[in-house]
Amino acid sequence: MNPINPTYRTATLLVQGGIDRSPHGETAEALYLTSGFVYDSAEQAEATFKNEVTHYQYSRFGNPTVSMLENRLALIEGAEACRATATGMAAVHSALLSHLKSGDRVVASRALFGSCHWIVSTLLPRYGVITEFVDGADLAQWQAALSTPCNLVLLESPSNPMLEIVDLRAVATLAHAAGAIVVVDNVFATPLHQKPLELGADVVVYSCTKHIDGQGRVLGGAVLGRQKWVDDVLQPFIRNTGPSISAFNAWLLLKGLETLALRVDAGCRNAEQVAGFLAAQPDIARVWYPTRADHPQRDLAMSQMTAGGTLVTFEVKGGKEAAFRMMNAFRLIKVSNNLGDSKSLATHPATTTHMRIGAEERAKLGITDGVIRLSVGLEDVRDVQDDLAAGLAAI
Ligand SMILES: *Cc1c(COP(=O)(O)O)cnc(C)c1O
Repeated sequence: MNPINPTYRTATLLVQGGIDRSPHGETAEALYLTSGFVYDSAEQAEATFKNEVTHYQYSRFGNPTVSMLENRLALIEGAEACRATATGMAAVHSALLSHLKSGDRVVASRALFGSCHWIVSTLLPRYGVITEFVDGADLAQWQAALSTPCNLVLLESPSNPMLEIVDLRAVATLAHAAGAIVVVDNVFATPLHQKPLELGADVVVYSCTKHIDGQGRVLGGAVLGRQKWVDDVLQPFIRNTGPSISAFNAWLLLKGLETLALRVDAGCRNAEQVAGFLAAQPDIARVWYPTRADHPQRDLAMSQMTAGGTLVTFEVKGGKEAAFRMMNAFRLIKVSNNLGDSKSLATHPATTTHMRIGAEERAKLGITDGVIRLSVGLEDVRDVQDDLAAGLAAI
């Protein structure tokens, strides 16, 4: 492999980073749809298992197409190493379970993706890990929780679905003083618009299912961090527990990365415009978008992100009934719990993605029955706005 100069700019790395051409010299990344690999001799197999030579062994441990995806993601993130996983949840779960043991302590922001919340609130305590939630936007709560020794901090910023911002620099400083590594779920910001490692995080996790595929086709995930942590902590866990991604899905994600900047930047522009449109509507009680002047943490958002993202959250007046009427009137925008797609998708978090956390926890997060999360796609933004207007008229 002839490694690309890592100082190329992001748009270049997205297209050409990490390519490992076969002797055939193919233009596009090759798809190595194979579970195993063969050796020239018994001696070569032995040397491979002794780590004396580098040779692929088995696709649960590593695969050339998957390696291309991992190398490209690491280049974009500015991370030393990356492991790709079958799903975003496999990435989160692997990052946490590989690092933690019974008796350890985890502090997490309350506003997490539903399944991440379940891992922290329900799964980890089952294995003797002590967990505590804080309001991610309240530094005093982080300070109090991290005045006791801690092993791992998990947070999401902007958060799902209320787009709350966590002060990454400040929390990383507090977490490191408490002895914790900081794991950031960077899905909403995307690798293009927020660099958690530069802000003090130790590990970044992605659901590649979202913007990285971006076209609603495959599931995937990634964990990025220091080489030593990936080699010594994460890789043995992945190798032996098997959350590995299929080569086919990795290949599609490589193709997704080629257009990531074009798609995400267009989605962000559309989202910003849609947020402005919604904020001017009398039936909308409130709009959340990180870079809008009325977002309570706008300055913080602007200090750690370079764009506001493709998600807009808003609250309609009239609660669940009004929200359902609006969503059922959409013709272009689809009702879905997914996000980060080229198609615009609307979600009612209280009855879907955040139903299981219960009314009390939803209230703490500000997820009222009138809240709708809109993942703005790549359609002509005027058609999206017309659909939103038709939805509002139906209320
Ligand atoms: C979707 C998502 C996940 C989980 O990813 P999957 O690929 O669905 O397993 C985790 N965190 C956030 C913020 C997400 O949006």
